Amino acid sequence: MTSSSGSSATSSPRVPPSPRVPKGRPENLFPLFAEAVKLPGIGPRLQKLLEKLTGPKVIDLLWHLPSGLIDRRHRPHIIDARAGQVATLDVTVGPHKPTPRGSRAPYRIPCTDETGEITLTFFHAREDYLRRTLPEGERRIISGEVEIYNGLAQMSHPDHILTPDEAQDLPPYEPVYPLTAGLSGKVLTKAIQAALERVPELPEWMDAAWARQQHYPAWHEAVRAVHQPEAPDAIEPRHPARARLAYDEMLANQLALALVRARMKRTRGRPLTGDGRLRRKVMDHLPFALTRGQLLAVAEIEADLKEPYRMLRLLQGDVGSGKTMVALMAMLVAVEAGAQAALMAPTEILARQHAKTLAPLCEAAGVRLAVLTGRDKGKAREAIVQAAEAGEIDILVGTHALFQGSVAFRDLAVAVVDEQHRFGVRERMELSSKGVAGTDVLVMTATPIPRTLQLTAYGDMDVSRLTEKPSGRKPVVTRALPLERMDEVIAGLARAIGEGRQVYWVCPLVEESDVLDVAAAEDRYAGLKAALGARVGLVHGRMKGAEREEVMGAFQAGDIDILVATTVIEVGVDVPNASIMVIEHAERFGLAQLHQLRGRVGRGSAASSCLLLYKTPLGEIAKKRIATLRDTEDGFVIAEEDLILRGAGEVLGTRQSGLPQFRLASLEAHADLIAAARDDAELILQRDPELESERGAALRVLLYLFERDEAIRFLRAG
Ligand code: ADP
Ligand code: MG
Repeated sequence: MTSSSGSSATSSPRVPPSPRVPKGRPENLFPLFAEAVKLPGIGPRLQKLLEKLTGPKVIDLLWHLPSGLIDRRHRPHIIDARAGQVATLDVTVGPHKPTPRGSRAPYRIPCTDETGEITLTFFHAREDYLRRTLPEGERRIISGEVEIYNGLAQMSHPDHILTPDEAQDLPPYEPVYPLTAGLSGKVLTKAIQAALERVPELPEWMDAAWARQQHYPAWHEAVRAVHQPEAPDAIEPRHPARARLAYDEMLANQLALALVRARMKRTRGRPLTGDGRLRRKVMDHLPFALTRGQLLAVAEIEADLKEPYRMLRLLQGDVGSGKTMVALMAMLVAVEAGAQAALMAPTEILARQHAKTLAPLCEAAGVRLAVLTGRDKGKAREAIVQAAEAGEIDILVGTHALFQGSVAFRDLAVAVVDEQHRFGVRERMELSSKGVAGTDVLVMTATPIPRTLQLTAYGDMDVSRLTEKPSGRKPVVTRALPLERMDEVIAGLARAIGEGRQVYWVCPLVEESDVLDVAAAEDRYAGLKAALGARVGLVHGRMKGAEREEVMGAFQAGDIDILVATTVIEVGVDVPNASIMVIEHAERFGLAQLHQLRGRVGRGSAASSCLLLYKTPLGEIAKKRIATLRDTEDGFVIAEEDLILRGAGEVLGTRQSGLPQFRLASLEAHADLIAAARDDAELILQRDPELESERGAALRVLLYLFERDEAIRFLRAG
């Protein structure tokens, strides 16, 4: 690694920003962040299509990488040209045969070389245009796919028609891009080539030794090389140009996370130590002992809290693994130390559920707990807000929204964020920058994340994992049945309901359309109601929040026997009496998702079951998914398997999970680069914590390039 130790940042903590380090997005990036419509040849109609396919900006075009190549170097004689191949032919244009009036036949132009004849065909042809580009008797270079029609060689609508002079400009390899309806490859290629004209030379942020070792070209060369390929391997993910861009993206990601982490470690928190008095009281009151995993997680949290900097820790554990108790212990440390704690849940119903669980335990320990959600209005709300401000509440439970608003604490020391699927890096940064100074943060998630992904998503956090379930939990019996046996299943449900059991029924997911989702769910709801009587409920994503919570509440209260749902059923909702989970069209769900859904049952004392109804015939991957589910209930094992089966991009439904989406890096093809980028990022900040060296300035450009600029605010000279 090259040295960047010339920086004097560490010797004087309040150095003014160096003049080399401009504020805001660097000017040389402006052309890349302009709207694509600013490029020559791109009008509003094309801009719309591009927005849909790649994104609105010039940079989005550059990030749209080719998925294949056309080899234009294949230059056979006509006699050697094979059907289905792309060939570049050197021909003499013969006499045109225009489409006869009223006919639908194509316009045909026979062409020859010394070995044979090939006919160019054009549908809906414009004769004047063809006479201009293909004058009779002249030589032309044409390139396109060769077909055989009635035993004769033919090429319809060649991709290129060039004079012998122009032929030198024909690229040897032509990129092929993923397209969208209404957009041709030709038009997209032109747009991307126009974007390439705007590519500036950027200062090198890559460590020189590493770049040399990996044979990485400079950034602008890499961008050019992927879009103007010069060899057939240019579309391989490990091609140096592609790998470089992937590495850049991961370095930006890791550097942003490392900056958050460094900021946390630098932000003074108060060292929190409790005397254990309240925790002991709560433990004494619990009907069970904490599992080893819970004890370990609590110990890790206690150690963090003792440190004089802020905690940012992720607690991962399957649904039902007992995260709430761990959270309570963390919060009690704060209370023992004379401070306050907060627990934020993503929904009203979960907030109330937490409060209900925690209230008797807190009461036993003499801890003052209150709950505040959107439902609390007027005087009641005012009273709680004031009590929190006056320090008369020790633990406040509420929804996330609450804490973004007006609530002020006298002394908030620990904040727990529960089940936050959309709690991405951006939100964490927000929390840490505007959150109360010194507040320690514990984030809890029920989505087990494979280790490789963990680094990319949560590289800024310390992680605790609850891998074992509390003892006494009965395994969920998982069975797979073809949809044809639905009647049998419904008959079985009638019996189970008769015994007082409750059922979740999850309806198929229709990727493109929540309207179709809802229609399917409504149909099933009506069908089950007809078959089983009135106590059937329905929740789906197009219902209003309050409406949905009402149905969920009725299910929780036991007023509903069967809850028909699209996948919106709240993560973490605890209905211990629900012991049957039916998943319709299980083959359409991902493994992790099936696991999450199954986790809603098996929480009470009754034996639970999960029925996976699938449509035959079952594909290989779906078969493997179902087999994995039957074999294990360990979310971490399932997450790793899911990664293998699906590829990282799709794991967990990336969009909802708060995982970063990579555009250039592929977690399968570039997995080893993640670790390298992480190490790189750490070393960078060790040597140049404020990114003030020359390389540091270049790295700021990198962060802007990948729109990780929130992280830049964490620099003193940001
Ligand atoms: P999570 O939030 O991880 O989904 P919870 O914290 O809601 O899980 O715990 C699920 C259930 O397990 C709760 O009813 C809780 O009381 C119970 N539980 C928690 N820890 C233990 C334990 N150590 N032994 C037995 N039951 C436990
Ligand atoms: Mg929970």
